[in-house]
Formats: sequence, structure tokens, C-alpha cells
Amino acid sequence: MHGVECIPMPPAGLFETDDSTPQDAPTSFVRVAVERSLDLSDGLTYAGPESNQPLAVGQRVTVPLGRGDAAAHGFVVAVGGPELLDGFDPNKVKRVRSASSTRLPEPLVELARWMSTYYCCPLGMVLATMVPAAVKASIGRRTITKLEPVPDPPADFDPGTPTARAAWDAIRQIPAGDFPIAAKDLAHRVGATNAGPINKLVKLGALREVTVETVRAPEAFWSESGAALAAPPELTPDQHAAVEGITRTLGTFAPHLLRGVTGSGKTEVYLRLIERVVELDKSAIVLVPEIALTPQTAERFLARFEHLGVAVLHSGLTGATRNKQWAAAASGAAKVVVGARSAVFAPVPDLGLIVVDEEHDQSYKQDQLPRYHARDVAVVRASIEHVPVVLGSATPSMESWHNAQTDRYTLWHLPARVAGLRMPAVEIVDMRTERKKRREQHGDPRTLESIGPTLASAIEQTLTAGGQAILLLNRRGFASYVACPDSNCGWVLGCDSCDTRMVVHRAQARRAYVRCHHCLAEQLLPKTCPTCGKKVIELGSGTQRAEQEIERRFGTTLGLIEGETFARVDSDTMRRASDYFDLLARFGRGELKLLVGTQMLAKGLDYPNVRLVGVLNADTSIGVPDFRACERTFQLVTQVAGRAGRGRDPGRVIVQTMSPDEPAIRLAAQHDFETFAKRELATRHASRLPPRWRMARVIVRDRDHDAADEHARGIAQAIRAAADEAVVVQGPAPCPIARVAEHFRFAIELFAPNPKSIQRALAAPRTAGLLKADARTAIDVDPVAVL
Ligand code: ADP
Ligand code: ZN
Ligand code: ZN
Repeated sequence: MHGVECIPMPPAGLFETDDSTPQDAPTSFVRVAVERSLDLSDGLTYAGPESNQPLAVGQRVTVPLGRGDAAAHGFVVAVGGPELLDGFDPNKVKRVRSASSTRLPEPLVELARWMSTYYCCPLGMVLATMVPAAVKASIGRRTITKLEPVPDPPADFDPGTPTARAAWDAIRQIPAGDFPIAAKDLAHRVGATNAGPINKLVKLGALREVTVETVRAPEAFWSESGAALAAPPELTPDQHAAVEGITRTLGTFAPHLLRGVTGSGKTEVYLRLIERVVELDKSAIVLVPEIALTPQTAERFLARFEHLGVAVLHSGLTGATRNKQWAAAASGAAKVVVGARSAVFAPVPDLGLIVVDEEHDQSYKQDQLPRYHARDVAVVRASIEHVPVVLGSATPSMESWHNAQTDRYTLWHLPARVAGLRMPAVEIVDMRTERKKRREQHGDPRTLESIGPTLASAIEQTLTAGGQAILLLNRRGFASYVACPDSNCGWVLGCDSCDTRMVVHRAQARRAYVRCHHCLAEQLLPKTCPTCGKKVIELGSGTQRAEQEIERRFGTTLGLIEGETFARVDSDTMRRASDYFDLLARFGRGELKLLVGTQMLAKGLDYPNVRLVGVLNADTSIGVPDFRACERTFQLVTQVAGRAGRGRDPGRVIVQTMSPDEPAIRLAAQHDFETFAKRELATRHASRLPPRWRMARVIVRDRDHDAADEHARGIAQAIRAAADEAVVVQGPAPCPIARVAEHFRFAIELFAPNPKSIQRALAAPRTAGLLKADARTAIDVDPVAVL
């Protein structure tokens, strides 16, 4: 499907054409996918630009669009002759206005086509996503003029003056690969005292000017320590087997799953593989979840490959730096690209390997158009470019584990920690018994405390012995909701605009307030129940309350003072990436003895002095109405536990829970991924859920309840009409959170035993214009959250 942008016939007399030079009909044409919501799988046809500059697939161009010929950006997706016209009059086809130097390599254009079909997103919008905004806006980019000698100058060429002659002789000694060189640098290099001799050589035609595009930006590297270039350790036999096995597949498409317990040296496996890849003069892309949260991992790549050029792409970069890093990847100057989700689109010219670290991480899924999953896109890109892809995790996603179990992926296993380190011992403590104990000690229930006696004494022991501790509480704010203490009344403070509870926040110098975590609405914390007038209670502890409790209980005994000797880590305190880097540096130096925070702390931290990890409440994600709730709980407990025992001390992990028999918690404590996965996959399969069954979701939202319902019904009908018998279509039904920001939300869910059936069921209504991703409608293929 494609369209033709044609020129509307100009009114007679408006066009002054010079008859003496008849306009030749254009002979070269391109198809352009414009960065708009136009859902044409093959773009619009345009004639080449007036300048006759040849265009290439992947190039970003400006074209006239629509009646008013407004300038629109787009990407060339096909180049050809009149066959692209489909019989349309070549004289009436509009011309490309201009072409930029930004160009995506062809395999990325192919990848974009796949994404456009698979994720139901207009092709131009997918292509636009592949290029960072800073690159599109040319932030920091400028062209400069440099010099190079003309090829094959005449042997008897005589520059005339002795200084020019000396300069010329010196220039002939410079290796060809060093050119072009800026005039000033060239003068300096040939020992000239001023630019005179160089200018003369330019005038005589012996040197010629070339324009070079550069990006000026500060370096992207945050590492002040320079991350000492540690000598690579000797591989363990398991690491060695994985490196050798995966190396054998270089040059072919091969997906690998590297499952290694926390601290088993997965990163070292990636590093060795990348060494092999750069030896072949190819590039590697390494995806890490939210790089701002994993500075330690990124630093290790920088330290090992600094000499080869590492481009780092993360959200904390300034526009100019981002642009520079992208240019370094595109030119092949950086052999290794490390970045978050969007780095899967790094425009490296000669890809050799893709690594997806912590492949189970939710941040790989983009929650806006195009709703792609970077891990899955990485696998498709690897197949397009015929390279291996390595997915690594201590807690693989059920999707990847299923693929490994069914031999679609090759499985490599690192079952033990390196250097003889043991897995930490994990104790599950039942918070109901803990509270009883505390009552016996103090005579009152102290039900609002988040730290039970077992964990409290472990904190004391650890810190007194000079160790450090990490406490996880995956809930921001002070309390998760406000309610009436009278169960007959039952009042709970909800958000006016959403079907959610308001979360209590307490900031210093501010009266306590409540905030909706969905629409961000805020109001002051009410003191009494509006229905019966009783004094409200604040239930469900968040990180702010835990922080207060720590200072109250351990401030004098252990000297724990917030901001000085311990810190809270969540997205409220860590506003910028640098806040987190600074904090981790202080933790690394031992200035901070304890960190308490959300799942940010579960990601990739490797500090040998962390001897205690406490999970304050393992149940935060268990009750969520999402079929991945157990998987998430298992991952979170396993990952955070993995931060302990990375030094000589074996490390202790204490998991507080109200449901100690919950298999996700019990099996995580036993480090038993396989049993967990086996059970979980069986349950999913029996309920016809992913990974064996594939899923897509269409969410319709509208301020008007009935309009949302009706629109959703129309879409559901079109999908049902197009679906084959393998597809189960459910809904429309109100979403678990039925209203967000004053919009009612309805979901249609599609399930099928194969992705093709889902694709077909969505494709037909899409082509017919009945299903369109827009402000009212979200199409989510392979959703990771179903609220
Ligand atoms: P993972 O990514 O599996 O959690 P890491 O790659 O972070 O594990 O490795 C944990 C620690 O062990 C790191 O400090 C790393 O430098 C070190 N390490 C990795 N491989 C080896 C090895 N073969 N011998 C000794 N130490 C190693
Ligand atoms: Zn709200
Ligand atoms: Zn009440």
C-alpha cells in the first residue's frame, strides 16, 4: 500500500516556466515514509530533488505534503525509476525538497518495516523513533572545511617559493589516511610558521578543500575514576563454554539465552564476545536497562574498550552529546555502543553482535507509539543482519525461557558465582509473627513499622561489623493510601480523575499531601473522614515512611542520619542520572552505610561490602491484577538478593512477607529459577496466556464513558470479523484501572497460539481504517503491563 503525492494543477498563468529550456520529466523517484500518522506501508512517491542529488534508502528528507505543501520530514524507503509511479503522470509528482545527511543503514529500514507491521505503527513514525531527536535537530552539528592533497599531482609540480616547496614535500610524507586535515593543523604539522604556504598550495590547486561534518559536544562519559583498566580475569569453565559456543555462531543469526545466577560473571562473557567481534572489525551493541540506573555496568564496558571507542546512549545526555555519540556509532568510529532501549537502533555500519543484558527488564518495552520491546526487536535485527544475539539474565523472562526450552534459543548456563563466592542465604520471615514479637517487646502492636525484629537486629549486626546494607521497598511515597479507621464506614481516599487511591507524600517544609501516581493530581492530606468524621489513618508503607523509621530507630544507636550516613533512593529523590551516580559513588566509598529504596536498587549493583539485603515487603507486586505478578515478584526478590554476598562475607538476605508460602517468594529464596519457571509456564499455558499463547491488547480511551464503550465495540467487531478461529477475542471490558486522568478505558484482548493469527486479526481492520493508533486508541502487541 502506498500513495502518490502529486502536484495539484496550478491555476493558469501562475507558473512562469521558461519555454526556452523545456523541463525534463523527472526520471528518478523515491518512496518516502513521512513522520506522520499516515499508515501507508510503502510510503508516498516523490520525484528526486531539483538538484538531482542522488538519494539513498534510509536517508532523511524534507518533502511537500498535502494541499498546502507543508514541509514534512520523512525517510526514503525505496529508490527507483518510473516503476514507482504505478502509471501516475511523472510530471505531476511532487519533488523531494531537500535531503539531510542523516541516514539510517538499510537493515534498519527493513527492521522498521517489520516493526510497522508487527506493532501496528505507521512506518514513518517507526523510522522517526529510530533517530534521536537531537540528531534530527542537528544539535551541536556544524560543517568545517579541511584540506587534502589532490590525487596524483603532476610529478614536476613546483610550488614556486622555498617555504611552499618545503611544506609540499612534508605533506607528501603524511600518510593518506590522516587526511583531510584542517588548514591550521596542517601548517603546524609541516612545521610552517604561518598559514601562508598552505594557502599558496590551495591556490595552486595542489590541496583541495573538503567539508566535513562534526558534532561538538562534551564527552559523554561520567566516569571520573576512569574505571581502572583491570586485567581481565581468567574465565571459569562455564564462562569459557559460553564464550566459545557463542563465538562459533558469529556471522550467522543465532539467538542465545545466557542464564547465570547473580554474580556469575555474565558481563565478563559479553566482554569476551565483544573482543572477538571487534577483532573481526565489526561493531557490537549492548543494551542495558535504563543505563542511568546501571552506571556500574556501563563503566565496565568503557574501561575495557575505551581504546576502541565506546558510544554511550542514555537519557541523561545533552542533545549535543547524544548527537555526537550517534555520529560515532554511524561512522563506525565507535566499535561498541552501550545504551538503553533505543540503542537497539544504533546505526552501526557493520554489526557483529547484539547483547541484551537483564533481558527480563520491563524498561525494554516502550509504552508509547511504537510500543516495541527492544529485546524482541534485537532478535529481529540480529536475524536481518545475520548476527548472533545474546540475551542474559539471572531471571529470564518466561518468553525467553520458553524459547530456550523449545530450542528456538540456545541455552548457556552459569550455575555458580565466580571466584568461589557462594549465593547468599535467604531467610523468609513472616511479618505476622514479627509483629507479634514486637508487640510482646513493646506492649503495643506497632503495626505501621516496616522493619521487624529479625531484620532490625540483622541491620544492627551488619553495620556494627562494618558492613553495608540495602533495603528494598518497592513503593514510593509515605503511605500507599488513606482510609477511615471504621470498617463499617469503609471510606478510602481516591483520585477524582482516576480509579486509583491517592498516595501520601510527606516532604520536609511542606504539609503532608496526597498525590495520584497516575495523573499526578495533588491535594492536602485530609485529617478526618469526610463521611463519618473520624480521624483518618495512613496505611501501607512507602519509602518515605521507611526512611523516617530508620532514622527514628537507628539514628542514635547506629548513627544513621538521612543524607549523611544513609540515603533513600527512588525516583522522587533521584531526579537526574547524576544524582544516582553521585550517590553510588558515596556508597562505594563507604560514606553511606545503608540504602533504602525502590527497585532501582535491584539493578546490577556490585559492591563487595554489601553483607545484608532486606526486602521490607515482598508482597507489593503479588496482589497486582496482572498475570505477570508472580514473575515480577520472583525477579525482584532474586535480583535484590543478588546484591548481597559479593565479597568474602557470604551475605545475608531477609525477606519480610505476609505470604511466606507464596511459591514466587519461597522459590526465589531457594534460588530455584527452574522450578519456578516450570510451575509458572504450566499455569500460563493452562490459562492460555503468554508466552505459549500470544497476546495483543487494544485500549480505547475517551472522556465520555459511552463514547469509549461504543468505539471499543466497533473495533472489537472489526477484529472478530477478521480473526481466524485460532484467535480468542475478549471484550471490550473496562480496564483494571477503568479511569485514568478523566478518561474511561476499555480493553479488547486478543489471544492466539501463534503470532501470525494475531497479526492477521489486526491487519485487516487496520487496512480498512477501522483500527488506527491515535490519541484515543492504543494498540499494544505483546503487552508487558495489563492494568
Ligand atoms: P553478573 O553480571 O552475572 O551478575 P558480573 O559479571 O557482574 O556478574 O560478575 C561479578 C563479579 O565477578 C565482577 O566483579 C566481575 O569482575 C567478577 N568476575 C567475572 N568473571 C570472573 C572470573 N572468571 N574470575 C574472577 N572474577 C570474575
Ligand atoms: Zn489520578
Ligand atoms: Zn469514615
